[in-house]
Amino acid sequence: MKQIAIISGKGGTGKTTVTAAFAELAEAMIVADCDVEAPNLHLVLDHKVKKETEYVGNQTARIDYLLCSHCQRCEEVCRYEAIIEKVQVGEGIRPNEPFPFIDSKRCEGCAACVYACPTQAIKLYPEGTGKVFLSETAVGDFAHAELYLAADGSGKLVAEVRRLARDEARRQNKSVLIDGSPGIGCVVISTITGCQQVIVVTEPSQSGKHDLERVIKLTGHFKIPTDVIINKWDINHEVSQEIEELCLQLGVAVIGRIPFDPMVPQAIALGHPITRYECPAAEALRVIWGKIVL
Ligand code: SF4
Ligand code: SF4
Repeated sequence: MKQIAIISGKGGTGKTTVTAAFAELAEAMIVADCDVEAPNLHLVLDHKVKKETEYVGNQTARIDYLLCSHCQRCEEVCRYEAIIEKVQVGEGIRPNEPFPFIDSKRCEGCAACVYACPTQAIKLYPEGTGKVFLSETAVGDFAHAELYLAADGSGKLVAEVRRLARDEARRQNKSVLIDGSPGIGCVVISTITGCQQVIVVTEPSQSGKHDLERVIKLTGHFKIPTDVIINKWDINHEVSQEIEELCLQLGVAVIGRIPFDPMVPQAIALGHPITRYECPAAEALRVIWGKIVL
């Protein structure tokens, strides 16, 4: 089973357009959207959800006020300032007295307060941080996720999407095609770890070139074979040439150049992979796909 990740140094380079095109051309791969903070592959892959699971990626502390002696130890040990004092006005267990309150959005589930509490009033409870989906598409199964608003743990959610995609790939004897996140953060590291090939999609701008260099250094650090695609290469011939030279210096191959094509935004607006159309960008993607060995 081969795992190929499509990533980019920065957002907006056309990474998802490339992944959707490869998903159509491959015909027999499990596709995974690991850009869990801003997933959009589902917008260009017609799909029907067949399995939906809540992902428990965190724990949060809660206080049993019947056991709490108001000693304030928990506030002192919480390094995330998740425990604040509140005053309960009117009726309650101890009306008009300050009591510790845990802000669940700030709580990291570190358990320091659990160990510090002299009356065992604090316990950790699992918390759902997102949903993981397995969907069917015309080109095969598709693993994707949704991170809850303000939830932490996107790296762990990516690992879960990859686990689901790998399990399906093994079961169906297929390879995995991953749409990753832009950048070089922990979500990207979680996306590329264990992959046999990374393809970086870039665009001919100075910021695109700068971010490409950072991402190539990242994949080099993990010793993952890396190739580059220059999208909309013809909007700036000079910088495209500079990117080719940079790739030569860094020892990675530019396996294709996709021309600017007004058909691409039209296909995205219709929710279709570009390879459903006969146009210059689709033709370039077919040639590039022919160079990728599964
Ligand atoms: S579990 Fe950790 S982060 Fe959460 S309230 Fe307790 S000490 Fe603070
Ligand atoms: S450490 Fe325990 S007993 Fe003390 S204030 Fe916090 S919850 Fe209450």
